[in-house]
Amino acid sequence: TSFQQFGLAAPILKALEEEGYESPTPIQSKAIPDVMAGRDLQGIAQTGTGKTAAFALPILHRLAADPKRPQPRSARVLVLSPTRELASQIAESFRSYGRHLRLSTTVVFGGVPIGRQQRALAGGVDVLVATPGRLLDLIDQRSLTLQGVEILVLDEADQMLDLGFIHALRRIVTLVPTKRQTLFFSATMPKSIEQLSAQFITDPVKVAV
Ligand code: AMP
Repeated sequence: TSFQQFGLAAPILKALEEEGYESPTPIQSKAIPDVMAGRDLQGIAQTGTGKTAAFALPILHRLAADPKRPQPRSARVLVLSPTRELASQIAESFRSYGRHLRLSTTVVFGGVPIGRQQRALAGGVDVLVATPGRLLDLIDQRSLTLQGVEILVLDEADQMLDLGFIHALRRIVTLVPTKRQTLFFSATMPKSIEQLSAQFITDPVKVAV
């Protein structure tokens, strides 16, 4: 199979060609069509499987297919990630695959001054990648609202729980519109994570690699 078969927008296919991606990985083949179609997804996949592109590519396609100016201090897509390193990598992937689209990606995480992040969000962004704690700080400081979020991604959910983000995640989900698309990824799916995912996603497609 090739990426063309999915019907991804031409500027995305061009970026993939420049990246040297020839064929989709198994998680990409399983996830991309359903995410493009707007379905919720529960994915069991480790880092290194191509998981980031499995959600980033169909999300970019959906944004490009429905161009809208993001609302001030909001984001159309919110990706939650456990650590600053992972968050930065995810943001880099969105920028890279979206390089031929007119879309903005911002990453926010704790441990650095908040002012620059507040300014980056002021005009609104298409894609926001965030760690949960700093995201809530920005919301509490009125620098961000989640009312415009159309797609929510929880990446490495098991790691976010291990790092003690459960209350932050629960609160964040109450602030995102219920009418949204939700993608939930975890390397493992024990009962505790399965229960958590059931609170966030509706009738999901389930993929495991
Ligand atoms: P991830 O699992 O998202 O951390 O991705 C692991 C690595 O695989 C990253 O360096 C990606 O750039 C690369 N990658 C993802 N999908 C593909 C693909 N279809 N073809 C070649 N490399 C890929």
